[in-house]
Amino acid sequence: MTASPRVSVIGGGIAGITAALAFRGIGWDAELIERRPGLQAGGAGIVLHPNAMAALEHIGLAEAVLAAGTVLDELVLEDDLGVVSIGLGAVWQGSCFPTVGVGRAALMALLEQAVRGAGIGVRTGVPVEAALGAGSLLEVQAEGAPLAADLVVAADGVASSIRGVAAPTCAVRPLGLWWARWLVDASPLGSHRWSARTAGCFTAGGYAVGGGQTHLFLQGPASCATDVSGTLAQAYEEFPLLQDGVNAGAELIHQGVGHSVWPHCWSVAGIAFVGDASHAMSPTTSEGGGLAIEDGVALAASVAESPSIAQGLQDYEGRRAQRVRRMARVSEIQVRSALSGKPRSRPLGAKAATEYMRAMYQPLIETL
Ligand SMILES: Cc1cc2nc3c(=O)[nH]c(=O)nc-3n(C[C@H](O)[C@H](O)[C@H](O)COP(=O)(O)OP(=O)(O)OC[C@H]3O[C@@H](n4cnc5c(N)ncnc54)[C@H](O)[C@@H]3O)c2cc1C
Repeated sequence: MTASPRVSVIGGGIAGITAALAFRGIGWDAELIERRPGLQAGGAGIVLHPNAMAALEHIGLAEAVLAAGTVLDELVLEDDLGVVSIGLGAVWQGSCFPTVGVGRAALMALLEQAVRGAGIGVRTGVPVEAALGAGSLLEVQAEGAPLAADLVVAADGVASSIRGVAAPTCAVRPLGLWWARWLVDASPLGSHRWSARTAGCFTAGGYAVGGGQTHLFLQGPASCATDVSGTLAQAYEEFPLLQDGVNAGAELIHQGVGHSVWPHCWSVAGIAFVGDASHAMSPTTSEGGGLAIEDGVALAASVAESPSIAQGLQDYEGRRAQRVRRMARVSEIQVRSALSGKPRSRPLGAKAATEYMRAMYQPLIETL
């Protein structure tokens, strides 16, 4: 009897866990190595669009995530010129799944449960290190020993140290955007609405994530948020949703500036890259996590369908590069528009807004 091939996945975030599950699904032995003390993570919420839900379905988790979160069926956009309501069902027409808002802690708990249930070996509190050895050979080590695997998958996030050594030309770039996120035990927007209001430099809004909780956010050019406490104080005055959230005990989960990775990095020296380690992008499209989940599923499928791992890695890039590059371009354009600070000159019409979103997302309905 021959042993199953073995994959070592570096990083226990959304990308790493889903990649490990996808490889387990094709019969590989999988190991997950995370530098944090555990897999559980806090965080506010995340929007998972239908393409992310379809990828979760591949690893048997769509139903559980749907049950933990809430369906978002309406996006309401507001600025000084008016309010438009966009039906997300119309935007994603033809998809088998809805858009779902879910708490990051709830999502990670489901992913961890699935990893444990699938018998995937997990090493936590273990930072993986990469270095160039003799003859510029890439050495990847954990706990002083090389990773014993047929394939290594780097899912170590936007600041990936593995990518830094293996593919330094895939560089981290500041986006120039700043954001803050809160989680509150209340449902000021109801359970199915995602809302965003732009005023001055900033856009603030929120969406329900299930369990009676709401994710609130504030974002804008980093140049407008050099004094964070002043920015937050002003935002509470300008955006009643945030003020009401804070009054209801909203917890500020995170604030900071964002980064992207460009060019994207798919595989180098036999190491595959997934998620933010490969292609971090602005959160404006709400697709970073969704594309990360797709990566693992597509990588495992490419390897399973190819005569060799090397061929599988090539196929993986072929399957992913265009789809991801397209979303990265869209998010780049959205960042440029947010940074320009130019207010809209005409009111946004519901029809035009729906068409814009359809054009952006419809290609993601196609299979991976
Ligand atoms: C404000 C904001 C809002 C967003 N909203 C959405 C949204 O609504 N929808 C959506 O789909 N996406 C969203 N995204 C994007 C999404 O959060 C990310 O794309 C996704 O979480 C990336 O997951 P990842 O597993 O690739 O990286 P990470 O979550 O960063 O995980 C990387 C893991 O690797 C570990 N690690 C790092 N280095 C090492 C090492 N050397 N050894 C071992 N372990 C290591 C880290 O500890 C971490 O656990 C948003 C992003 C931001 C910033």
